[in-house]
Amino acid sequence: MTVKLDSWLLEILACPNCGGDLRPADDADELACVGTCHYVYAVRDDIPVLLVDEARAPAP
Ligand SMILES: [Zn+2]
Repeated sequence: MTVKLDSWLLEILACPNCGGDLRPADDADELACVGTCHYVYAVRDDIPVLLVDEARAPAP
């Protein structure tokens, strides 16, 4: 299953950590921040979980 989010939704969503744009990650039900923090957020039941506490930080 891939992330199915409308483009208009992606346009208004922003990373809660840095305010950057979010883009669907390749081959995963996740949204990746393309701003400065590059956190990765899970998508559960087509609902993005935009919580910094549940975000996955990028590998150092
Ligand atoms: Zn971010």
